[in-house]
Amino acid sequence: MLVSSGKLLEAAKAGHFAIPSANFVDEDSLRWHLQTAEEMNLPIIIALAEVHLDRLITLEEGAHIAKFYAERTSNPVVLHLDHGKSFETCKKAVDLGFTSVMLDASMESFDVNVQRTREVIEYARAHGVSVEAEIGHVGTGAKYDNNSDNIYTTVEEAAAFVERTGVDSLAVSIGTAHGLYKGTPKINFDRLHELAAAVKAPLVLHGGSSSGDDNLHRCATEGIAKINVYSDLVVAAAKEVYALQQKEAEVEDYYTYKEAAKQGMQAMLKHCFEVFATKPVTL
Ligand SMILES: [Zn+2]
Repeated sequence: MLVSSGKLLEAAKAGHFAIPSANFVDEDSLRWHLQTAEEMNLPIIIALAEVHLDRLITLEEGAHIAKFYAERTSNPVVLHLDHGKSFETCKKAVDLGFTSVMLDASMESFDVNVQRTREVIEYARAHGVSVEAEIGHVGTGAKYDNNSDNIYTTVEEAAAFVERTGVDSLAVSIGTAHGLYKGTPKINFDRLHELAAAVKAPLVLHGGSSSGDDNLHRCATEGIAKINVYSDLVVAAAKEVYALQQKEAEVEDYYTYKEAAKQGMQAMLKHCFEVFATKPVTL
């Protein structure tokens, strides 16, 4: 069933587990994520990122197919816009039936971020849609710098931001980055504990991929309610296709490749559910 993320993330926060936010890039990845979650009877957030739009899928197509499949599941499903860049994109997603949107204005000043987030909240809330914002910038793994302390979200800013916006969930920077890293990142767990204690809204971790199972399990059980994964899912799918090719030089059947990609992606998502200690939620 299609639900907004508000109550789900509150349940995750209270229950000390995290819900995976799995990016989809086409109808296949969407259906595979939903099947995995339904088989495990667990809540899932399926996310379409603005940066992935128009390569394999448009916002309209994503909304229509996601609603079609999500409404036929028995477990809770959130349809989320990941990294919306503008009010216009967030509004369009709300109008199309997304149940959760993220406005990423984290590159702006604190005050501008507050103001732009409030605009989106005003529109989204009138339509029963939850809003995620981000403060403190989560960079990319390729440019990852372990030694820079100013990458972390401060407790004062996070608490003030939630107070001033009333945002439903907040993405914070505690040491992860987007994409794949060289090596394993260093997570600032002290900062996570302080943030979880001081900030009312459930916390979100971006850049879950290749952050290390121990790190992610600790994040999920020590204060993070939603963990975004993308790279690990598509890499796992590609690895299975590659392994199939190595084993059988001449696979001529398109479906055989798709089946291999499905196995890889679903095994990785299942692994995420286990690492994040995700539990069933009844709404
Ligand atoms: Zn992100």
